[in-house]
Amino acid sequence: MTSTLQKLQQYLKEIEKNDKNGKKINAFLQLNPDAEKEARTIDAKKSKGNLAGKIIAVKANINVLGLNASCASKALENYKSTYDADVIKKIKNEDGLIIGITNMDEFACGGSGETSAFGPTRNPQDINLIPGGSSSGSAAAVAAGFCDIALGSDTGGSIRNPASHCGVVGIKPTYGSVSRNGLIDLSMSLDQIGPIARNVSDAALLLEVIYGKNENDAISEGEGKINSNEIDKIPKNLNIGILDFKSSDKRIDELISKKIEAAAKKHKWKTKKISISHIDLAIETYYPLVYVEFFSGTRRFDGRKYGKKIEDSAGAEVLRRILGGSEISKAEHHGRYYNKSLAVKKIIESEMKKIFKGVDCIISPTVPRIPHKIGEKISVEEMYSYDMLTIPANLAGNCALSIPSGEIQGVPVGMQIMCDKFQEMKMLQIANCFERV
Ligand code: GLN
Repeated sequence: MTSTLQKLQQYLKEIEKNDKNGKKINAFLQLNPDAEKEARTIDAKKSKGNLAGKIIAVKANINVLGLNASCASKALENYKSTYDADVIKKIKNEDGLIIGITNMDEFACGGSGETSAFGPTRNPQDINLIPGGSSSGSAAAVAAGFCDIALGSDTGGSIRNPASHCGVVGIKPTYGSVSRNGLIDLSMSLDQIGPIARNVSDAALLLEVIYGKNENDAISEGEGKINSNEIDKIPKNLNIGILDFKSSDKRIDELISKKIEAAAKKHKWKTKKISISHIDLAIETYYPLVYVEFFSGTRRFDGRKYGKKIEDSAGAEVLRRILGGSEISKAEHHGRYYNKSLAVKKIIESEMKKIFKGVDCIISPTVPRIPHKIGEKISVEEMYSYDMLTIPANLAGNCALSIPSGEIQGVPVGMQIMCDKFQEMKMLQIANCFERV
């Protein structure tokens, strides 16, 4: 068996060859300078944890003691984490090895990987294309063979979207099922940390470790458990819901929706088309929440305690959100926008709850379009609409994942599987069946 150290060295060689050189993927912002030493310590242990031998990359908005949680922003360029996020503590306890910190859209604001202050990440499947975002570096690192598993964060699709574009597996767990302590938030009522991996089994393994209640996170809940050894069980008598949307919706590429629908029908499970009312309002509901919560969260980046003042150092998308959030949360608006969005969020949540009484999962494309070329100018609305099918799970708080489902024009497309809150086990088993086909 190859040791952790040997495996690490192979990955480092590949990173050396293709991250800043060769294909110039630009997935990593920083490599862990102590990785080899830590690998030796793990290899020397007599009894090893569940993640021993797994090499893990971490998105730059998750604190890893001593490493640089820059959020891919000039504002936090030199900020060194003073503690480990809960998820990192759990990974270290199980002997997972942190190889480095990955690139991302600045402060997780974006869906393409292009808003990083340290240059865009390239899609390893086609280096001219965006890898998706905001966990761009995490998905690209996994797809490029730079690590085994990576951590991302998902507020409106940021794990599933790049997983889909890069042809890997990405899981957004149920809201509250994984501690957010140590995550630099984009929008605290929507954010969730989750794994990205080359297969369902590795993703399940990491999810099992980070899942569950944590005392440091008031909203974390203890319901449900993951057992990664049981993802091979085939769930019986499944009712599969296939998301039905208006064929007139120009934001959705018909080739992709047809392909996913055909894939969903490959098993002998019962399928039916379902529509989710108000899902067409998902984007309009999501952004006021994100703008206001992001504005509030960024008030601590005033240049005194952490790094530089955010208004003086961040890029256009971050500034748009700060400006928008400060405007719509003004007292004179009496909560008109934020409160209305919260009300619609509740409606979508109860609508989803109702639907999950009749089906075990809802299947749809993860992203309705194939990725654009790096640097290609698309409108803000077009960029935001990449997440129209992933945002509903964040608003409702249920779990969802993306698995590769073939290619269109040589570009990977992902299938999204959504399940009810705390139904991760069933979701993983269903995904595992699809992966095997
Ligand atoms: N693309 C979405 C946004 O820009 C989602 C980001 C995310 O999930 N972090 O807000």
